Amino acid sequence: MTDKKDMKDDKYWRDKLSEEQFNVCRLKGTEAPFSGDLYDNHEPGMYVCVACGSELFSSGEKFNSGTGWPSFSDAANKENVGFETDDSHGMRRTEVICNTCGSHLGHVFDDGPTPTGKRYCINSVALKFMPEKKK
Ligand code: FE
Repeated sequence: MTDKKDMKDDKYWRDKLSEEQFNVCRLKGTEAPFSGDLYDNHEPGMYVCVACGSELFSSGEKFNSGTGWPSFSDAANKENVGFETDDSHGMRRTEVICNTCGSHLGHVFDDGPTPTGKRYCINSVALKFMPEKKK
């Protein structure tokens, strides 16, 4: 963890987040596939960190991966998204975190669509969707 992350203690997050959000965002859990309410969301808008509101992903990079998790080919705001090596569960994966609050978001894989080739596989409960304002 780097200094720039806004490190709050568990008490703070337990009060602020639901139990499901806490399990994913702070304990690095994974929601069951097809259980979240955002994997099939196709509305235009921004996906922000459910814990701190930082802008993370945009509907423009969202694609249907078939995995049951919201999937993006790129981050909307690259400074806001961080990466850590995750060797849990006998695999080497790249964990995706919120750079602002350190919350766990999901993982990124190299089997995504062109042009990035990336597949950000993100838990619905770690995100809050902000619909684009209708003109
Ligand atoms: Fe955050």
